[in-house]
Amino acid sequence: MLTVKVDRHATAIVLRSAVQAELSEFEDSAFHDWLQRAVFASRSRLTMLVTATVAIGQTVLAAVAVAGTFASMAWWLLPVAAVSALPVLKAARDDRNSRHRLHHALSENRRRREYLERLLTGRDEAKEIRALRLGRALRDRWDAAYRQEIQGHSEANRRYMWSSLGARAAADVVVLAVVGGGIWLVAVSVIDLATVAGALTGLWFLSTRAQMLGGLLSGIGESVLYLEDLRTFTAIPSPQTTPPRVAMGTVQADQVSFAYPGTDRPVLRDVTVAVKPGEVIALVGENGSGKTTLAKILAGLYQPDDGSVLLDGTPVADIRVLRDLSAVVFQDFVRYKLSAIDNVTFGRPEAPVDVERAWRALAQAGADAFVASLPAGAETILGKEFACGADLSGGQWQRLAIARAFYRDAPFVILDEPTAALDPKAEDDLFARIRNLFANRSVLMISHRFSSVRHADRIYVMEEGRVIEEGTHESLMARHGTYAQLFTIQARSYR
Ligand code: ADP
Repeated sequence: MLTVKVDRHATAIVLRSAVQAELSEFEDSAFHDWLQRAVFASRSRLTMLVTATVAIGQTVLAAVAVAGTFASMAWWLLPVAAVSALPVLKAARDDRNSRHRLHHALSENRRRREYLERLLTGRDEAKEIRALRLGRALRDRWDAAYRQEIQGHSEANRRYMWSSLGARAAADVVVLAVVGGGIWLVAVSVIDLATVAGALTGLWFLSTRAQMLGGLLSGIGESVLYLEDLRTFTAIPSPQTTPPRVAMGTVQADQVSFAYPGTDRPVLRDVTVAVKPGEVIALVGENGSGKTTLAKILAGLYQPDDGSVLLDGTPVADIRVLRDLSAVVFQDFVRYKLSAIDNVTFGRPEAPVDVERAWRALAQAGADAFVASLPAGAETILGKEFACGADLSGGQWQRLAIARAFYRDAPFVILDEPTAALDPKAEDDLFARIRNLFANRSVLMISHRFSSVRHADRIYVMEEGRVIEEGTHESLMARHGTYAQLFTIQARSYR
């Protein structure tokens, strides 16, 4: 019971820290190394620590009992036993340190291997891996990663074998010297044979205990170092306060510049855009021009490096305020393999589940009919990996993600390619609804479909991280700039 409870406690603190970490942390490979080591420490090390502590207690008790008995009989044995233990303990400490260093060095390799394991065993990846016959190649990579890990361990083992052999030989030399000394003392009749035989038995007992203790301490010391990893990860400071509640107003990016953590290439440069309450604003531009990044900054997911996000003209000090105000449908939204109702009500997890409101959101997103026809209705689990699970089409998943945004009922709605997986009729229908359903809200929409974009109140055209044009569809067409060119290319291909 103790080991299970320790496991639960340790995993819980790792999960809590992972959830509290800022999004920018997840951009950093060192963070993932810490996380992986913390998970490793919480999973496999604590049980060992519990059992090793018990074993050490037993060994120390036995050694103390023997040492106590022989202290009165031949006290000079004790320092000899202690000296004979020193090389063994030193070898154990060196081994512990080198194994822990190896563990750190292999962190990324282990993460890569675990990623390959997920690819090879996941349901979502199964179809493409089979279509491409990729299984073999991925398995070879997995094998190579594992081989590297095993090689590291086997080198560490070999090193420990030699150093511990040397240490034991040194300890044995000390013991042999004492045996020789004892025999000599008997020969010159300084002490009697019975005392020497008893003392040597005691020495043998103490020195074997010391060697056992060396092994155990090496194990426990290694575990303690792993616990340090756990502590390092869980000590990452996280904001304790809840963000203040503020009223919605005009959200504005004011000369915002931004580079992703760990890179120095600016993805946004001096970007200024504004979304007023009740407006539908569109962002267009080529792939990689920075639209999604700008949306994430306006949604309060990243802090800009330069410039600021303003709310009714006042810089937002705590970006979490923006998170509370916005409902985002990401291009790569999450398909939660939980019930359909969970997929909707996750839009507002802090409030009690409101089934009626969830059905309203489903209807607004045009998802009520297919959800109702699922085997267990809204309670159906959306993942065939689970008993009685069902799966949805790409467009159906997208409608569910949109329903989640409706359910969230936030004043600032951000839609990143919200209709990419919808058929043309559904897309047209959804954009017509967006105007009505999000009336009085601010909507920021990223889309490559100019048929939808043209109805926006204002359109920003982005190129290489800058806003290069801004205006209504008509004014931008009249400018004959990039927007007019992109629009014409798309319109021509439809004609
Ligand atoms: P868009 O939405 O216009 O296609 P993005 O905002 O997604 O463009 O990306 C802008 C640039 O930022 C691209 O060059 C992309 O490679 C880079 N980028 C996007 N996400 C990340 C990230 N998490 N870390 C580093 N670079 C990124």
